[in-house]
Amino acid sequence: MKSLWNDQEALKCGNDPLKLRVYTSRLLGKEASLVLHGGGNTSVKAQVKDFFGDVQDVLYIKGSGWDLATIEAAGFAAVKLSLLKKMAALKTLSDTDMVREQRSAMLDPNAPNPSVEAILHAIIPFKFVDHSHSDAVVAITNTPNGRKRIEEVYGKRVLIIPYVMPGFVLARKIFEMTQGLDWENCAGIVLLNHGLFTFGDDAKTSYENHIRLVTQAESYIKKQGIVIATAKKAKEDLLGLSQLRGAVSRVQGVAVVAHLKNDGASLGFANLPKVAKLATRGTLTPDHVIRTKPIPVVLSSSSISLMVQDYAINYKEYFKRNANEKLTCLDLAPRWAVWPGHGLVSFGPSIKEALISSDIIDHTIEAIQRAEGMGGWKVLSEKDIFEMEYWELEQAKLAKAGRFMGLQGKIALVTGAFSGIGRACVESLVAQGAHVAAVDINPLITTQFKSQQVRGFVCDVSDSKAIQIVVDAAVRAFGGLDIVVSNAGIFTPSENIVSMNEATWEKSMALNLTSHQRLMKAAIPYLVHGIDPTVILMGSKNVPAPGPGASAYSVAKAGLTQLARVAALELGAQGVRVNVLHPNQVFDTAIWTDEVLQKRAKSYGLSVEEYKTNNILKTEITSKDVANLVCAMASKVFAKTTGAQIPIDGGNDRVI
Ligand code: ZN
Repeated sequence: MKSLWNDQEALKCGNDPLKLRVYTSRLLGKEASLVLHGGGNTSVKAQVKDFFGDVQDVLYIKGSGWDLATIEAAGFAAVKLSLLKKMAALKTLSDTDMVREQRSAMLDPNAPNPSVEAILHAIIPFKFVDHSHSDAVVAITNTPNGRKRIEEVYGKRVLIIPYVMPGFVLARKIFEMTQGLDWENCAGIVLLNHGLFTFGDDAKTSYENHIRLVTQAESYIKKQGIVIATAKKAKEDLLGLSQLRGAVSRVQGVAVVAHLKNDGASLGFANLPKVAKLATRGTLTPDHVIRTKPIPVVLSSSSISLMVQDYAINYKEYFKRNANEKLTCLDLAPRWAVWPGHGLVSFGPSIKEALISSDIIDHTIEAIQRAEGMGGWKVLSEKDIFEMEYWELEQAKLAKAGRFMGLQGKIALVTGAFSGIGRACVESLVAQGAHVAAVDINPLITTQFKSQQVRGFVCDVSDSKAIQIVVDAAVRAFGGLDIVVSNAGIFTPSENIVSMNEATWEKSMALNLTSHQRLMKAAIPYLVHGIDPTVILMGSKNVPAPGPGASAYSVAKAGLTQLARVAALELGAQGVRVNVLHPNQVFDTAIWTDEVLQKRAKSYGLSVEEYKTNNILKTEITSKDVANLVCAMASKVFAKTTGAQIPIDGGNDRVI
């Protein structure tokens, strides 16, 4: 590992300790093999003036919820050093009390919660302290002779601490073990199965010591000549993937998205002959358990759903073995799966979370193989991992977990998604937590939506092969399919039957009818594995209230309605709901230009405003209104409705 220290950059920080702290924290954060997604923490001791102008000795410590890669000055909490040192000398202290006392010792109550390792940082008698969960250091310690190997790497230059829970117990342990320590001859502290601390009176010394110690661990591993498995040619089984994601969602009790990774390293690991034994020993560092659970589900040739259910049974047993009566069992679902022949799959309430787990897994599978090459991958005891997973601080976080959104983790596909109703549907679905494959013939669809929850796909829905390709792509992107909004269609020109162009008729049938049947045909095999799966077809007010000159459009939409009714009959037993929406003119779409509106209003002898609200409720129907109804129909509100036709037209006297 190379030092990324740059004199010019450092000079910009002047002598400001906090600026320097931000600078080298970010340098550490840049190395994924040191810290991942909020892992690790750093601090600096400084003097600041409080509100009254009195000088205070404080510890600026990384706030929880901040990531070292992107941390700013606001990400550090200033905590009174004297109070932290006082706490370090206590015999016992619950972590909940520790967090409260740390908060009460903060100079600014609006700063983030100080890291749980704040007391430990306070004990170390140097200005700057850097802490990482270095892959190399942890991999060496996760072996049967971990301690001996660390001694081989560093000699007597580091203090080695056996594993104890982070938080107060660890701080207390370090407090005891450093009484009378010759700090000047101590280059760092290695926490077995956890990570590395370095320190120094200036930012550069502490940071570069860290890099130096990590490099030594890396060279030690390199010398062992361990080969990391790699493989090519992953098998693809999208139905299996949607089955797996469906089974995990059902066990978890909420919909999740799945991210399949099948690059050389992931597939190589999944294909290892003894992967079932290697992958199920535990986590790389204990804090990963929050994201990955202690172990993944390892799939074999038996039924995917049964294997996920077995995992749940085993997880419940693990909980019972280790829990006391005060604890609440977490959900029983795995956070990742090892799928020999296919790769590794991570699950999460959003693709963002699934990718975070996936990053952690990348580092874990490499460390497993390195440790295996150094005498065997040996992690902490089940009890230690359990204690971390059910740590009072983690349970507290869980209790105040963020608001659950109605369609969180759901996977939708919307056609005609570039503009109008389709676009509004994508936006509303995403706002409610769903992930969406946005399909349109307009090539700009691939860049239309900026959210990580949307993937744009170009497709001409009159081409059945192209439809199958995008449906498969949606499943590949998010792991399954729950909601299909079959919306793409066209307004054909007004022509009476006697003078109708054959092309007009054919085009309307192809786009307004046949394409919907083809989409359903491609989607149904996936939908049956979905979570409360549903198809919503965009009909028209023209079905119950046709007008002259619109036979091509009305007949196709009437056929579409009949298709939905038959589909509801065919799919009900498998739990798939199929309903039709009948919107009347939705004017905030591209086809209704001011000019068209004025012309049409005039032909009815109405003002534009009167024309737009020409319905019983005298209200205008917007794309957003239709999208909101679509979301409601995809939600539990409509869980017991199928084969229905629901108007959204402000009320129509020809229908009522
Ligand atoms: Zn740590």
